[in-house]
Amino acid sequence: MLAYHAHPMPPKDVRRSAFFARCANRGVERAGNSQSRRRPGANPESAGDLVIRLPPGNHPGGGIPVSRVLTGTRVVSSSMSASHRLSVSDHSRDSAGLRYVYPVLSRRAGGLSLGINLNPNNACNWRCIYCQVPDLRRGGAPAVDVVLLSRELEGLLADVLEGDFFERYGVPDDQRRIRDIAISGNGEPTGAAEFEQVIAAIEKVTERFGLPGRIGFVLITNGSGIERLPVQQGLRHWAALGGEVWFKLDSATEAGIRRINNVHLEPQTVRRRIAACAKLCPTWLQTCLFALDGAPSSAPEQEAYLAFLSGLVCDGIPVRGVLLYGLARPSLQPESSRLARLPAEALEAFGAAIRERGLAVRITP
Ligand code: SF4
Repeated sequence: MLAYHAHPMPPKDVRRSAFFARCANRGVERAGNSQSRRRPGANPESAGDLVIRLPPGNHPGGGIPVSRVLTGTRVVSSSMSASHRLSVSDHSRDSAGLRYVYPVLSRRAGGLSLGINLNPNNACNWRCIYCQVPDLRRGGAPAVDVVLLSRELEGLLADVLEGDFFERYGVPDDQRRIRDIAISGNGEPTGAAEFEQVIAAIEKVTERFGLPGRIGFVLITNGSGIERLPVQQGLRHWAALGGEVWFKLDSATEAGIRRINNVHLEPQTVRRRIAACAKLCPTWLQTCLFALDGAPSSAPEQEAYLAFLSGLVCDGIPVRGVLLYGLARPSLQPESSRLARLPAEALEAFGAAIRERGLAVRITP
């Protein structure tokens, strides 16, 4: 899901606690004061955004401690040489000093997103032709070390909220806030056998910092694991945490899904998964629009997509809306040279057609 790591709207009803008063300028966004800065559907790795890389601890040339030891908890530490502090264009998660957790700073959105990557093996059960995961291969997530993930998240949160993370990375004052935690990595997260435990771990760690209700929680998924009971149990917790799901839907025809996502999947199956997901957790659909071999998707393809959405609306399937994306960066798949961005007007026009079907739309050209 690297291609579309993105951010949710903040919870609206947020009261300021003593903790947040204390931390007002130390990394936690107080929801309600920044609606205009948060843009659901924004891709934080599009032009102008910073991907902060955390190289391995033994980085030559000396390092800057990224994480610290917390009382009673061994927190994984990492280090970073000054020359590797920030990278504007590097998408790689491979060199991260942390296995599962990575920070992304979005200039445009004005804050920090902490990503959770459950697929450090760059394996996904889909192969979307626009995917930006390097060396993507077919497969699933390896066993997740949930204890390590918890330690990484706790260490990074402590560093951001109580340490000098922002100073070290030279983050501008107006961006010194955590916007969200996003399960979004180099493959499909709902395939992880430990998905439910991962959600529980995120819940536990973020509660320790008083974050639920004050930052966003986003799961970015192709929906393939939604019907597994442990995933559904995890989604219930995710919803209770204030989380939402961004569910990939690039086409509503079998041929289109095969062409774009390289999976054999009937639209009815996708619809069933969307319905199951939306019942459990607030769900946005996430759609990438692009030209393939010089042409946008065909009129019948577009009509099928819009009819699919109309069907969801008519049947009361409570999706929140559609996040429409253009191609922010080049694909890292063999089809890359066949893909091109569509003009912003094309996305706007398609977005207007979706709105006519009764759904909200947010566009990131
Ligand atoms: S579903 Fe898998 S192949 Fe498609 S964009 Fe996400 S990570 Fe890449």
